[in-house]
Parts: sequence; C-alpha cells; structure tokens
Amino acid sequence: MKFDFKKIYVQRSIYSDFIWRSNAENIIRRFPNAEIVEVESHWKIPELFEADASDWMRTKRESLVLGIKSGLSHTKNGRSADFIATSNSNGCLSSCQYCYVARRKGASNPLTVFVNIEEIAASICRHQKNMGAKLEPNQCDEHFWTYDIGCNADLSADSFVCDNPGFLVRQFASMEFAKATFATKTVNDDYWLNIDAKGKTRIRYSLMPQHIARYVDIGTSPISERIASANKLVEAGYEVHFSFAPIIIYEGEKWKSDWHDLWTEIDDNLTDEVKRQLKCEAFFLTHSSDLHDINMQWNPKGEEFLWSPETQVPKKTQPDTLVYDYQMRRRELAEFSESLNKYLPYCPIRYSF
Ligand code: SF4
Repeated sequence: MKFDFKKIYVQRSIYSDFIWRSNAENIIRRFPNAEIVEVESHWKIPELFEADASDWMRTKRESLVLGIKSGLSHTKNGRSADFIATSNSNGCLSSCQYCYVARRKGASNPLTVFVNIEEIAASICRHQKNMGAKLEPNQCDEHFWTYDIGCNADLSADSFVCDNPGFLVRQFASMEFAKATFATKTVNDDYWLNIDAKGKTRIRYSLMPQHIARYVDIGTSPISERIASANKLVEAGYEVHFSFAPIIIYEGEKWKSDWHDLWTEIDDNLTDEVKRQLKCEAFFLTHSSDLHDINMQWNPKGEEFLWSPETQVPKKTQPDTLVYDYQMRRRELAEFSESLNKYLPYCPIRYSF
C-alpha cells in the first residue's frame, strides 16, 4: 500500500506535549510533500467531513488527520473481544462499501491517527491489571482478557502510516492478563513479522468470497493473500482467526457456492499449525439507507450487491440500521454454520449473528 497524503491535519494541542509532538513528527516525516494544516479538533474539520461523497477515494487517499484521543475508556463487549479498547485511530485507508465506521463518520471516513499512543497503552495496561487474572474461560478466550484494539479502523492498514499498531502489540506481549485482537483486510507481513507478539495478539482476517470482495471490499488485499498470510503469522507467534463477514446474499444461491469455494481454498492452503488454532466469527450484512445514498454516488456497482429492500428490514434495536429479514437470516445462518462445519470441521464459530 502506498500513500501520498496531500494534506495532514494536525490537532493544535499536539504541539503542547513533547512526546505527542515527536510522535506526530515521526509520521509527518514519512510524507514530506504533504501540506500541514493545524486544526482545533480532529472531529471538526468541515472541509474534510463535509466533502462531496463523489470524491470518496480522493478524500481518503489524500487526507490524514493526527489527533489526541481523550476520554480513555474500555467498553465491555463479549463478542469480538471481552473489551473494546479505547481507539488508537479511527477511519480507514480502505473503502469497504458496507463499513459501519464510515456510516458514523461520514464523507469517506479518512484516517485519524491518535498520537498519544503511550497513554492509550498505559490505560489498557491499568485496566487489565484491575481486572486481574481471567478465572473463567469464555468464547472470547480461554485464558486472557481480550481487548479489540482495532474496532474503528484497520490496524494492518494503519501500519503503513504509523507504528501505533506495532507499539500496542509489543505492549500486550508483556501484559499479564490481556491479549490484543483486531480484524483486518490488509496484509502487511513485512511489518508484523518483525514484531515478537509472543502469542498475545490475535489477528482476525476478514474473509468473503473474492467474487463479491472485488465489488465491495475496495482497497483491501486479495482474499488469497490474506489466507497465505495466516500461515506466516501463526508461524511467527500470532494467533490468527477468521471473520467470515459480512455475509452478503446475492444472485440467488450463488453466494452459497461462492462460500463453499472459499472454504475449499482455505482448506487447501492453510498449514496444519494454523488449522489447529483456528476459530471464526460469522455475521450477515447490516446496511442503512443513508449509506446506500452515499454509496450510489461513488460505487453504484457494488451497491447492487448490498441494497435489497425486498429482504432487508429495520433492526429491532436500531431502526436506522437495516438487517436481512430475521426469519430468513436465522434459516440461512443455520445452513451456513452447518456447511462451514462440513468444509472446515476444525474451525468452530466463536460467535455469529
Ligand atoms: S477495513 Fe474495516 S474499517 Fe476499513 S473500510 Fe473496511 S470495514 Fe471499514
């Protein structure tokens, strides 16, 4: 992945602290041609967040924001991880068309990196110390409290821009009670293989059939590269799980045969070492009419796969989010899980919805 940011927006308060400032300068140095624009708040940059959606890719590829994460808190989760750790970045360099992060942030969801990474790591470390040892195993992990450190971003993509991801992985390597985890669609083996995670980081590669990924997973690594990377990462001391998500229903029954082909490819290519530690999560697409309107401005072809008003209904707990019809989803999820178990019997589902 190569980036040529034209503008780097820097939250002014970064200059008031020596460490924040030098972290920011380390990033800025990588992009010597970028214009530096000082801003009051990383959240209030009208020219960025109100940019025209038809300029989606340009805004994303040309703009980077450096900010300070305030309000460091870690939220209970229980699905992808025990806790969602306070963000070290938000926004993303990729452009998955269904991305819920973009749904909240608007105008192409450019990357914001938080440069107070030492404080973020120290806050997680204190939190896990307060939790003490995990006494009861759960689906998140048998031994450690798991912290999702990439809930609002793709840390493997961030690693092309800054060293926040590696810094956190190194910190987790020595935490007594905690393990890091994050989902990603970006392969950066050169970066991760130079870090000793000591088995304390679980990378969750998000996978979907390549046939659909090429229309909706814009700017991400090819599916076959993500599968090949799993072998190298496990060998290097990471745990690797798969996130089969989002599951998108398209072209009659074709989406099912595409998943079967993907599982065959996975089975043919993973080493026994990866298979032995593999688990997955699986969940169906969620969407929204606002995101649909935005998507139609920059990638209408992908939207043909995502938008299906005849089968999508408002989510009971969040009516502005659309989900597949509840009965249909229950039925399809049962069939999906059964087929998965036939193709990859060594890959239990940690959670699904
Ligand atoms: S990789 Fe994740 S955070 Fe990035 S655009 Fe895709 S879904 Fe959103």
